[in-house]
Amino acid sequence: MTEPTDSTSTILPMMHDVLQDIAQQTYPSATLYVVATPIGNTGDISLRALHTLSIVDAIACEDTRNTGHLLSRYGLSKNLIAAHQHNEREVAEKLITRLQAGERIALVSDAGTPAVSDPGARIVDAVRNAGLRVIPLPGASAAVTALSASGLLNDQFYFIGFLPAKAKQRETFLFSLKSVAATMVFYEAPHRIAEAVDALAAAFEPTRHIVFARELTKLFEEIHRCTLAEARAWIDADAHRQKGEFVVLLEGAPTAGDQDQIEAERILTILLQECSVKQAATLAAHITGQKKNSLYDRALQMKAGSDREQD
Ligand code: SAM
Repeated sequence: MTEPTDSTSTILPMMHDVLQDIAQQTYPSATLYVVATPIGNTGDISLRALHTLSIVDAIACEDTRNTGHLLSRYGLSKNLIAAHQHNEREVAEKLITRLQAGERIALVSDAGTPAVSDPGARIVDAVRNAGLRVIPLPGASAAVTALSASGLLNDQFYFIGFLPAKAKQRETFLFSLKSVAATMVFYEAPHRIAEAVDALAAAFEPTRHIVFARELTKLFEEIHRCTLAEARAWIDADAHRQKGEFVVLLEGAPTAGDQDQIEAERILTILLQECSVKQAATLAAHITGQKKNSLYDRALQMKAGSDREQD
């Protein structure tokens, strides 16, 4: 294993070269640049994003203090325009006037990708409708970061964002998701995480996997995968788990094949308490109509697993 060494001496000179290359690229005027910023770790910003923030005439941002702080970490200072969920429409008009005059303007949110559970979509829509150019600069988003480390195998995901805060609306909404086959991606506030887990446990099968991605990219990052049946106990096991920022991923609905397998395993579990592996497989094949050989193999694995647990 190689121990991490100080990368500054090797990377810094190269960054200078890369930044020079980036500076040679074209940055059209009369354009809105939608720039992703870090979701916790200040280092997670691209060189191209930094260059863009350094050349724009102004930055429209959710909270001018937060963005001012991020800019100051990189020695940048810019004209900042507050653009939050309560003033997006008015700000959009002002930005369009400035863009039409030929300015370059960046749009950022407090963390991650603008317009993803954050303000920005209305501004982008208005700017595009005005016939002006929008250029995205990709970067961090909590949803994709969580998915990448979840180990959930489904290629499809369904981004939901925040659940309704009111219990009845949340219950109805979750019920509407019961047959979604894609992995579902939720954002949740720490003070509602326990409630949200209870609501998920009430709405979906207890065998589904759930992944908690907490404080991503930060000092106390934690990524935990368990079944929905085990989820509340995990939250309750440590008081810190109702603090910080969370992405919650929920495995999609079991397919017909998965459901047959769950049912076969349920039957084998009961039969293996009374019968040999061979008898259990024969009886399970009669009950389920599934192939005896594969049930035999599965029963052998289950028996070996339970013997190991007893040792
Ligand atoms: N625009 C952001 C993005 O691209 O992911 C999302 C902003 S949304 C207002 C904030 C929510 O994103 C948090 O409540 C949490 O659910 C999730 N989130 C943001 N940063 C996170 C982090 N570092 N770790 C886990 N979840 C995070």
